[in-house]
Amino acid sequence: MFDKILIANRGEIALRVLRACRELGIRTVAVHSTADAEAMHVRLADESVCIGPPASRDSYLNIPAILTAAHLCGADAIHPGYGFLSENAGFAEAVEAHGLTFIGPSPDHIRMMGDKITAKTAMRSLGVPLVPGSDGALADLDAARTVAAEIGYPVLIKAAAGGGGRGMKVAETANDIEEAWRVARTEAKAAFGNDEVYLEKYLDKPRHIELQIMADNHGAVVHFGERDCSLQRRHQKLLEEAGSPALTQEERRAIGETATSALKKLGYRNAGTLEFLYQDGQFAFIEMNTRLQVEHPITEMVCNVDLVREQIRIAAGQPLGYTQEQVRFEGHAIECRINAEDPDTFMPTPGRVTVFHPPGGLGVRIDSALYAGYVVPPYYDSMVAKLIVHAPTRPEAIARMQRALDEFVISGIKTVIPLHQRILADPEFRAGDYTIHWLEQFVDKPH
Ligand code: ADP
Repeated sequence: MFDKILIANRGEIALRVLRACRELGIRTVAVHSTADAEAMHVRLADESVCIGPPASRDSYLNIPAILTAAHLCGADAIHPGYGFLSENAGFAEAVEAHGLTFIGPSPDHIRMMGDKITAKTAMRSLGVPLVPGSDGALADLDAARTVAAEIGYPVLIKAAAGGGGRGMKVAETANDIEEAWRVARTEAKAAFGNDEVYLEKYLDKPRHIELQIMADNHGAVVHFGERDCSLQRRHQKLLEEAGSPALTQEERRAIGETATSALKKLGYRNAGTLEFLYQDGQFAFIEMNTRLQVEHPITEMVCNVDLVREQIRIAAGQPLGYTQEQVRFEGHAIECRINAEDPDTFMPTPGRVTVFHPPGGLGVRIDSALYAGYVVPPYYDSMVAKLIVHAPTRPEAIARMQRALDEFVISGIKTVIPLHQRILADPEFRAGDYTIHWLEQFVDKPH
């Protein structure tokens, strides 16, 4: 087992990893920007190193500074968390070239899945169903027109290097395709430095359902069920549930089998998530994330598993702690992402937190790096807490989430807690009757 792990991240996920390390008896090194000198992950770690100024590109994305910090402190492994360098194959390679262990998949698999076109090609060859679309990258606008005419409008033009919902444009009809093609490419070039795009059928009422996979270095691959992440605004998830209110046991078992057998053939290792659109009883793969996800705690709650502990144990060469038969799904879990944003305009609201009173009680979990007096910096992601509840049934989980949201006090900054309270009270949400478009319409309703 490792002696010391450097956590190349900040905020709640740095704490999440730190907690798993503590319980495994592993010492921790926090890295931080000058803006985060007072951050909770720095306070709780055994050692900390300042790696640069506030801007992420100079600190949390600064590979030489992070590797130097690891050497100075004698760390033997690096956990990248999510975001930042977590899906950077070059970083994973550099970590290994320096004789350290990267807690995650192989650089080759990170690279393969980081390009959505190679990811889809690989998944197709492994027998995973895809959203219908272009066979690879689109050579030019004419190719886009031809494929769109074949599969039928509406279609979606997507960036091969896409992420965070950027570089994605819908063409409702043939009249829109030129504009969608141009805008998607321009956005992709600006955001990712790569204007390669592909085309997919735009599904009108899908749910976003993703599958949590864990694989060890000895060929064992297990799935920990699905998460329903359909509640999104601008392609960003806001509230997630495990299991999905839309899936049957049999559907879960079948898609789990397809996914685990595909990743077994691929020789994948460590944590991964296969994202699907699910409509009319059909699954269609859209992308794979080669890292721990924000919403992993709901899976932990229903499966009673510590996914970060498993990631660390696997990276150290230990076998997966579970066979598929040992994975049990108990009850229902919901996560609300608490963003420091105005609940109506979604403008970020950085600033000083004056009161922080998290909810408690049976089945309530808070993953957050906030504390009273903390100043939320303006430089990073606006998510400041995750509120997770677990209960025997979905209606009980909803009731528990409502009372937990009512107890939660964060003063000094605005948060999206009032929006979550409205969602939880809505009859359609309560009936589990929603698609990926539901939240976008809901936030525009007068209230
Ligand atoms: P990103 O990596 O930018 O998050 P994804 O491919 O994961 O991009 O898609 C993000 C979201 O966009 C999905 O969760 C879904 O809501 C929507 N989406 C993606 N592809 C399609 C599609 N073919 N039809 C309808 N919606 C889609």
